[in-house]
Amino acid sequence: MDYKEALEVLTSHYPSGDRNELKEAYNLAMLALQKQIPTSPIKNEWSPSECPSCGSKLSDFIGDGLYKDRINLKICECGQCLNWKK
Ligand SMILES: [Zn+2]
Repeated sequence: MDYKEALEVLTSHYPSGDRNELKEAYNLAMLALQKQIPTSPIKNEWSPSECPSCGSKLSDFIGDGLYKDRINLKICECGQCLNWKK
């Protein structure tokens, strides 16, 4: 089982009713799993690319309205794994 499959299992067995403590644990586990799945940064024309989880800027301004993506950055500071190739 990989992270994506584990996330699907948790999603399909999400606790019902007002079991708030269990829901909170599920939410934390699902968030942690989501961050393990390499995800494409949000790319914006004429603006820095952003982390899909926390919105951090993942590009450096190089002048003339241009930004250089930090493509060697594999993990954002928030823990989100990044996939620049998509
Ligand atoms: Zn982030």
